Order: sequence, then C-alpha cells, then structure tokens
Amino acid sequence: MNTDSFALRHIGPREKDLSKMLKAINASSLDQLIMETIPHEILIKNKLELDEAMSEQEYLEHIGGLAAKNKVFDTYIGLGYHEAYLPAVIQRNILENPGWYTAYTPYQAEIAQGRLEALLNFQTMVSDLTGMELANASLLDEATAAAEAMSLLFAVRDRDQKKNDVVKFFVSEEILPQTLSLLETRSKPLGIELVTGDHRDFDFATDFFGAILQYPGKSGKIYNYADFIRQANERNIKIAVAADILSLIKLESPGSIGADVVVGTTQRFGIPLGYGGPHAAYFATREEYKRHIPGRIIGVTKDMNGNRALRMALQTREQHIKRDKATSNICTAQVLLAVMAGMYAVYHGPEGLTYIANKVHNAAATLADGLERLGIYQLNEHYFDTIAVKADSKKVRPIAEASMVNFFYPDAETIQISVNETTSISQVNNIINIFAEAVGKEKDSIRYTEMITGNVIPSEVIRSTAFLENEVFNSYHSETELMRYIKKLERRDLALNHSMISLGSCTMKLNAAAEMLPLSDSRWGNIHPFAPVEQAEGYQLMLKKLEDQLTEITGFAGTSLQPNSGAQGEYAGLMVIKAYHESRGDHHRNICLIPSSAHGTNPASAVMAGMKVVVTKATEEGNIDVEDLRAKAEEHKDQLAALMVTYPSTHGVYESAIVEITGIIHENGGQVYMDGANMNAQVALTNPGAIGADVCHLNLHKTFAIPHGGGGPGVGPICVAEQLVPFLPTNPVIPTGGNKAITAISAAPWGSALACLISYGYICMLGEKGLKRSTQYAILNANYIKDRLHGHFEVLYTGEQGRAAHEMIIDCRPFKENGIEVVDIAKRLMDYGFHAPTVSFPVAGTMMIEPTESESMEELDRFCDALISIRKEIDQVSTADPNNVLKNAPHTQEMVTSDNWDLPYSRKTAAFPLEYISENKFWPSVRRVDDAYGDRNLICTCEPIESFMEA
Ligand SMILES: *Cc1c(COP(=O)(O)O)cnc(C)c1O
Repeated sequence: MNTDSFALRHIGPREKDLSKMLKAINASSLDQLIMETIPHEILIKNKLELDEAMSEQEYLEHIGGLAAKNKVFDTYIGLGYHEAYLPAVIQRNILENPGWYTAYTPYQAEIAQGRLEALLNFQTMVSDLTGMELANASLLDEATAAAEAMSLLFAVRDRDQKKNDVVKFFVSEEILPQTLSLLETRSKPLGIELVTGDHRDFDFATDFFGAILQYPGKSGKIYNYADFIRQANERNIKIAVAADILSLIKLESPGSIGADVVVGTTQRFGIPLGYGGPHAAYFATREEYKRHIPGRIIGVTKDMNGNRALRMALQTREQHIKRDKATSNICTAQVLLAVMAGMYAVYHGPEGLTYIANKVHNAAATLADGLERLGIYQLNEHYFDTIAVKADSKKVRPIAEASMVNFFYPDAETIQISVNETTSISQVNNIINIFAEAVGKEKDSIRYTEMITGNVIPSEVIRSTAFLENEVFNSYHSETELMRYIKKLERRDLALNHSMISLGSCTMKLNAAAEMLPLSDSRWGNIHPFAPVEQAEGYQLMLKKLEDQLTEITGFAGTSLQPNSGAQGEYAGLMVIKAYHESRGDHHRNICLIPSSAHGTNPASAVMAGMKVVVTKATEEGNIDVEDLRAKAEEHKDQLAALMVTYPSTHGVYESAIVEITGIIHENGGQVYMDGANMNAQVALTNPGAIGADVCHLNLHKTFAIPHGGGGPGVGPICVAEQLVPFLPTNPVIPTGGNKAITAISAAPWGSALACLISYGYICMLGEKGLKRSTQYAILNANYIKDRLHGHFEVLYTGEQGRAAHEMIIDCRPFKENGIEVVDIAKRLMDYGFHAPTVSFPVAGTMMIEPTESESMEELDRFCDALISIRKEIDQVSTADPNNVLKNAPHTQEMVTSDNWDLPYSRKTAAFPLEYISENKFWPSVRRVDDAYGDRNLICTCEPIESFMEA
C-alpha cells in the first residue's frame, strides 16, 4: 500500500471496510454499485486527462515553487484593496484553525453560538462605523454589495416612482471601476438606467430613484456629501454610499448625513489581498428596509430558559427562499473573513483602530509633503490615504517598477498612491526617491525620520461620533485575552473537527491541511488584484491550470473563476446564455424553466438575469415530469432561454431521462444550465457535457474541498460549452474572459483567487484515480447509510435499481402522529454529538443526508446508531405528553448538572443516550432558541445585555 497517497487520507473508509460495506448494501464491487446507480448512457468512456496525483509533500514543494514566481511589490494601487497586517493571533487561531474554518452556516443556532457572536461583533462594528441601524453578516465583495444596494433602492421605490416608472440611478464618476462594471451588469436585466457623472453637477430636477457615491472617491478626494444627500432626500432620491471602512474612523459616518445604504469591503481589517479575495464586504442600512436586506443577519433572541441566545434573524425573509420574488440570490457569503475582520476590531479596539487610521493618514500627508517639496503638484485638496500627483507616468513607472513598487496610473499624467497600515517611513522615503529620480533631483534630497502629523481632512467631515464602545471591543487587547476569547467562542461551535456534518447538497468533506497551508504564505497573500499580470506569474499558472482541470472534469470547453459563490455562478451562467441568445438576434428569449424541486437560488438568479420563471412539475417518484417539461418547452418555444436543472437531482437521484430532457430544451432553442452543487456525485464518472448541458457552476466550497468557513468564502466558477466561451465575463481593469465578454460578475478579475489554491491542491493531490474513487466512495457511503437506516426511516426517492446517489432524503413527516417535527430530530441529534442534515430542503418535513467520501465507516455507524436510537425515542412519545426528550432537546450542561431535575426521563437519557457519547461529549451552549421572539424584537448589534432583558 502506498501510504504517501493523498487519496488514502482524503477518503474515510479503510480498505478492510470496503468488503463489509459492500456486503451490507448487497453489491459485489464498487464498479457494480456504480453500474446500478448511474444511467449507463451518461457514464464517460475516457479517463479524465489530469496529471498524476502528487503526494502531500510533492504538492507542497510544487506550490512553493509556484509561489516563488509571484513577485511581491510594495503596492500602492488602492482602488478598494490595501495591504494590511493580519494579527498573528487571528491567523493562527481562526484562519488556520479547523474549529473555525470547517463550520457550516449557522442554521443550527444552539451549536453555533460562537460564530454567531463573532458575526454579531462584525455587524456592530459595521453599524457603528457607517452610522446605520442595521448591518448584515457580510456580502461577497464591495462591487456586489453596491449592486445589491442599487437593487434594494429600486425595490423600495415609492408608489409614485413605481407608477411613473422611475428607473434612473445616478452613479458618481468617483465610483471604483469594478463597481461601475458590476452596476452595469446588474442594472440592465432589471431595466435600471445608469447615469454617470460628477455629483457636483447633478440635476435634482430629473427623476431618479437613487444614487451611489464613493467616500472617499476613487481618486482619493474627500467630498462633503451632506448637501447632496439632503437635496436628494428632499426629492425622495435614495442614497447609497460606498465607503472605505478605515477612513470612517476619521470621517463622519455616511449614516449621520442621511445615507440610506452604506456598503464597502472590510478587507483592510487584517485580510490578505490574495489577488482579489476572499474578503468580506459589508452592507448596512436603515431598519425600515430590513426585509429587503440581501444575505444573512444575525440577531439576538432568548432560549427556552429565557437566556440570551443568538441566531440568524428573519430567516423566512432570507432572500433566496423567496424564490422568484427575491431581489437578491445571496446564499453563501464571506463568514470566515467577516469573523476575522470583526476580530481585528475586537483586538485593536477603538484606540488601536484610531492609531492605525492616523498612521495611514500621516503616511499619506508625509508623502504629499515630500513630493510637494520636490515641486510635484498634489491634486487632492482633502484626502485620507490616497494622493494623486501630476507627473509623467512614462518616466516614473519604469523607475518604480525597477524598485519593485506599484502605483496606480489612471492616465499618462496622473499617478495615484494609496498608502496603508503597513507603509513604513522607509517606504515613504523610497517613494519620494523614485519621484526624485524621475524629476532629476538627488535621491535622499528629502528624507523623513518620522511621519508628519498631518490633518488635511476638513473639519465638517471629521468624525465626532464615538464608535465601538461596547465591552467586546474594549476587553481583549492582550494576546492571551484574545486567544482565550477566540477559544471560548470556538468551543460553542460544532465543526468538522468534532463530527460528521452530513448536510445534503452542501458536501461537507475533508478540507485537508495540506490544501490550506499555502494560504498562509505571503507570496500568495500579498498580491494586489490589479497588479500587472507579469508580477503574478505563479497565480496565472495556477489559475489557468485550475481552469483547465475544471474544464476537463465538466467535459466542457472553457471556465471562468470569477463568480465567488454558487449563486453568483448561476447568475453569471444565465447572463452568458442571455448574451449568446442576443448575439444571434434572439432578444426575446427570456423564459427560464425550473423544476419545482430546485434550490431557491435558481429562480432568484433567473429573475435577476431578467428572465421569467416557469416552474415544471415533478412526478410522484420525484423526477422531472418529462411530458410537462416538453409541453412547456414547446409552448414557450419562441421565448425559451434556458432550463435550470440540478444533476443528480436535489432528490438524490440520477434521473435516467436527463439526456432526453436536455434534448427537448435544445430542440426548442434553449440552453441548459446545470446547477453543479451535486457535482460530488459526478466527478470522473459522468459530467455535465455528457448529459447534454451547456453551462454549469461548480461550488468549489462543496465538491472541491474549500472549507465552508461558517457560511463562506465560496468560489462558484462556471464551465461552459464551446458556443458560450466568447461570453465569459471580463474585468474593467485587468481584462479576462472571452472575446465578447459580458461585464463583471465580481469585483476581482479571478474572483477569490486565494481560495482557488485549495481546489487546485485537491485536484493535484487526488489526480484522476483519486477523484474517481472519491465519487465512488461518496456513493458507497450514502448507500451504506441508506441500508443501515432501512426499517427505521423511509428513504423518499431512489434510482430505478433502488440505489441512492451521493445523498438521500429521509421522511420525517409520519412522526407528526407522535407530535414530533423534523426540527425536534435535528435538535435531538445535537445531544448525540451530531449536526443535523439539511432540514426541509427540497421537501418540507424531511432531512437530506450526504455523508461524503471523507467519513469513515465507524463515523457513519455512530451517526446511524444515533438516528436509530432517536427513532426508538420517537416511538415512545406521544402528542399527549410533549414534555419529552425530543421536544426538550438539546440539553445543556447547565440543565443536566442542575440541582433540580424534574423531567420524566433521566439525565443520562438526556445527555448520554448512547455509549460512544461519553467519550467525546459536545455540549450545546444554549437551549432551543426562540426564533419568533427574536424576529419580533429585532436586535442585530451587541446591545448591552440589560437593554435586551427589558425588551
Ligand atoms: C449550495 C447550493 C446553491 C448555492 O450556492 P452558494 O454557493 O451557497 O451560493 C445552489 N444550488 C444548490 C442545489 C445548492 O446546494
């Protein structure tokens, strides 16, 4: 046995277990199992053309070699991305800690109080700095957040504006270029008309529903927007402000001057540049718009004992759950990065952040002073961290690049320099020397030994309101204290380092340490997304190779890595389809067929792409009703744009009619979009090309081993067939994509490039054989669970030969007779040390279980033992007596060790119902949370506990 093989570490069941497991499911071999599971006509005949698998050591050497090809310059490009110091205590205890990065989105609040608190800190930080009432728990990037702000303001137009069809949205020419590109992408399908210009010339007499301003502007200039916002408010023009989070420490908040929405990125709060991401964007607004906020909001509520507890607020309002009524499709966000940025604020506190903001401002002022003394004219009268100078870029640029320095060159005569937290006095001197050389002065003619304490911020915009006064931002400023605070929160959360998280559709597999290690390497971390591509050779090689690998795996012709979540991939794919139809003169093709069982992001994305959703029926067996689909495709023949289909279906079945289905769509002029969330059931056995699809997204944070991070980051590349390659998206600063590219889908040219390293490592270390084996074991593990649960739970849907795919749905509706709901089972699983599977998707009252290939037979057995034990408990309870072990679940340590115990079952039954538990007990930190109470009393910041109790 080759113990160097990574597959051996990635795949859970041992060789010796294989025969036992096959016997249990009555299959003679893995190959036979696959033959009984996947329709033969879609099995791929040829092996994937991928390089031989590398061992972990070989991979780490290889990736180190690529890292060495990235040239890390001192980069002052700015434009929304600034180098920052990630405090080592946060790097080691969060970024590099599976207790944080392998957690799931906190749907099961009782075992997620740690990250919920960290996210509440993030929201509080954003609310305080922006001066808004409410902030969400992150968005994908600043440009996406700005587009979401535009959509929100469009959705909340008043009755007159809607009646008069007011569709104009003003965009200040000071907006960042990538934000403008995204606004263009997102406005068109909604019928919003963008008008760009100088806000100082804005004509308030024209009908606009909203406007967006950049603060400070992309040139670095600080404007006082108070008067503009006041005038806009008077005419009911709603205002979004894209604000630099660090500058808000010195500048008065947009909220205090009347902004309706404030967006931005928190990257410079300690997050590596990573060639564009992942970073957490923020979105803050007024309470009155709470039902329109994209993404997730964390709120305060109480548990069954009346103790304070946190949970995701307003979940029924969660945008993608509204399906085709949604105005946003955000599902996965940037939770891990939001946790880190929030922790940066906890660590530094208001004083530390003020020190950092002053340091940055002083560096900019020192630089401006030095350049002026060289006779170089500075254009920004008021600025925070960015100066702009008149100088000949043809002269300066070669000197700068020879000294490994990047500036931003907006045109031939202007040079912009954005300094940051890491800019030292010697770097300031170095910049001055570059200019001295360019203008023929002696180097070192001006040399500073300390920063000038400058203040070129006008007094009207200087911040006077206090911020971050809560205890949490004023308590953990020593490393020991912060380390323990992070650990305290971590212990409240159940992540993959405790037990299996069998979330159907979410594929919570191993996120291997070797895949994660390169993320801590500054040669990957410190590359600016708009650095010249020649400096990012390591990235370019890695990203190209990953694109090729994904193209090969999907059986397609091209890939774009730009979308930074699955839902953004859906949107990108549909926009590409739309561009393709339009290129053929088919402007009227706007109908999107979507099966009733689809994930909520599918219809939400279709609507955002300007398409009309037509829902197709499912048969009793849970498959697509082919005749209904055919009838609808033919009825809408002339307007058919696309079908969105998940494969294997969200019911966990490889529908055998899939080739017929994709054929029907093509015959009627449509393109087929395959939702690739279930790609873990396909890799190296079949692929979207083989089933006849034209485009798919992949969730690299599901199938390709990027950790879920507690709800992000994600990477959602799209892979497309030949005819769609020309339309793959570009970027306005660094061109990417096809030769007829659509405008940007994400802010950065290659989306969350840093996270792509993880999937690259996954594919390199598994190779063709390991990938194929992983898929086979994913199917084996699911079928093993299915057979072990046989007789205890009914599996709702199976393939024609009775096999499950990589996941299955178990029916919990019959237990209503005993008064037991599916959530009771979900909560009771916590007492057994497990996170619940996916609850009530795609069928209400059911659970969808997906074990993945990474779980061992022993872990699958423990999980099945737990479910079977719960099943027995269900038999013993009835509606007559709701005071039972399921309804009271989960049980906390406080409760079980209390001097009072008056429940009709023992403490052991409550907390240690099976033997394996005592050896590795996980205690939920609160009792069952009260969702309704929290929604009625919405609190989304760290309010002092007293004020919450009074509510
Ligand atoms: C996860 C998932 C999505 C959405 O992906 P995100 O990365 O969360 O945006 C879409 N469809 C299905 C079936 C999924 O499971």
